[in-house]
Amino acid sequence: MSISSNAEPSSLLDKQFINNKWVASSGTRMLDVMNPYREERIAQVTAGDSQDVQAAVQAAQQAQPGWQALGGAGRAAYLDGFADGLEARRDTLITLSAINNGKPLAEAGIDLDDAIACYRYYAQQARTLDARQGGHVSVAMEGVDARCYHDPVGVVGLITPWNFPLVTSAWKLAPALAAGCTAVLKPSEVTPLPEQVLAELALEIDLPAGVLNLLNGDGDGIGAPLTNHPGVDKISFTGSNRVGETVMRSAAARTASVSLELGGKSPILVMEDADPAQAADWVMAGIYFNAGQICSATSRLLVHESVAEALYAALAERMDALTLGDPLAADTDLGPLTSAKQREVVQHYLALAEQEGLTVVRGAQHRTLPARGYFLAPTLYRDVPVESRLWQEEIFGPVLCSRSVTSEEEAIGLANDSAYGLAATVISGDPKRARRIGRQLKAGSIWYNSEQLVLPETGWGGFKRSGIGRELGPWGLGAYLEVKHVVGPLDR
Ligand code: NAD
Repeated sequence: MSISSNAEPSSLLDKQFINNKWVASSGTRMLDVMNPYREERIAQVTAGDSQDVQAAVQAAQQAQPGWQALGGAGRAAYLDGFADGLEARRDTLITLSAINNGKPLAEAGIDLDDAIACYRYYAQQARTLDARQGGHVSVAMEGVDARCYHDPVGVVGLITPWNFPLVTSAWKLAPALAAGCTAVLKPSEVTPLPEQVLAELALEIDLPAGVLNLLNGDGDGIGAPLTNHPGVDKISFTGSNRVGETVMRSAAARTASVSLELGGKSPILVMEDADPAQAADWVMAGIYFNAGQICSATSRLLVHESVAEALYAALAERMDALTLGDPLAADTDLGPLTSAKQREVVQHYLALAEQEGLTVVRGAQHRTLPARGYFLAPTLYRDVPVESRLWQEEIFGPVLCSRSVTSEEEAIGLANDSAYGLAATVISGDPKRARRIGRQLKAGSIWYNSEQLVLPETGWGGFKRSGIGRELGPWGLGAYLEVKHVVGPLDR
């Protein structure tokens, strides 16, 4: 099945990709896939069911020993194949992300580039894996030979969200395949279009049958049966805390391994030695990228009182200059939210803010929205009380909450006073100070004088309720490997 960038309402994803074949889904329902800018259906996708899961897991189980036996170097060539194939479809994939996710073209390009970099990185990692097999372990006991091996976990279920389909699937699929695991991938039913290309590429690069299986459908039809399936050795899930907790419970029932990449409410600290204009650029990049629908959005601004007014003025100026519009138009800065449902979620928080009487620096009253599309005005509240739900909960939209602080200690204390710990940003005129402050923040990724700098070589994942485990870097590969030691008397 091939997806074109001008997906028409007739596009019908009624099949599942199992064992390198597009086969009829056993699901009987179809789900609408929307263009959030046009508010029109652009495709329909099958709501697959547990029989599809059964067939896909079986295919993955059969393929796993052969895939493992290929060795890291053998598998690496396929990962490079995925990267090459994505690159070759650049324009189509960027357009698809724009029409299915509502991402402006430049942001869709970043999503794609990060995915390509990830496949390339894990191709390299796969090559290093062979040399690491059977490495001697230094032990204190004399006369003992101890060696360490890394075996693949087995069959893995990979569940992705709608905000960054190509990247979130790459972060799972690339290391899983590099490690020698075989996979059943479940894209979000909200944005299934971009990830279909992975099945197309599997065929193009002659990936052995059953190594990658892709199932379309929703959480009840595919997600839950996949997490409950006894043939799935590990689940790697990216999504909401609510569903992540369900996934963890299912996995616990059969002691299966889980990795969870969940929500966030990340702080950005602007210190008194920061240049307000430069800081405003970072603050903007941290919250209005992808219309704020980023797990690592820096959605809590803590600004030193001495630069607060200058920063708010610089932010208001930049927010007024944002162009909201068609994601396919070159001058669009901010697209619509990805779904009507997500817009409702954010609107609920905006209504709550009104009830709480929060002070609006910029919001709905400051701009006219495009006539159609799931748009919301970029919004900035100041002096938000820490008790406010808007301060504490993930909103997942273009809404920034801020308050001023009087000292570094207060900023660090408030930054860490959160149930989440995915990311944090420090803006300071003194990079050494920024790094020192960063070391005191409880989060998996700390940026200083930058924003959303996610590199394939560095780990990604959360402290506290933001998740369990790490993706990317060698840690991302380790998530799909079992460590095995072979120990006995030294050969004489
Ligand atoms: P979601 O939890 O609603 O859905 C995520 C995926 O889980 C989808 O594919 C969905 O179909 C599936 N699912 C739903 N019910 C299921 C069930 N019972 N069992 C198994 N799977 C099920 O999340 P979303 O709305 O798609 O994504 C937004 C959330 O994802 C936000 O909270 C965001 O912070 C988080 N996120 C986190 C990261 C990270 O790296 N930490 C990255 C991106 C998004």
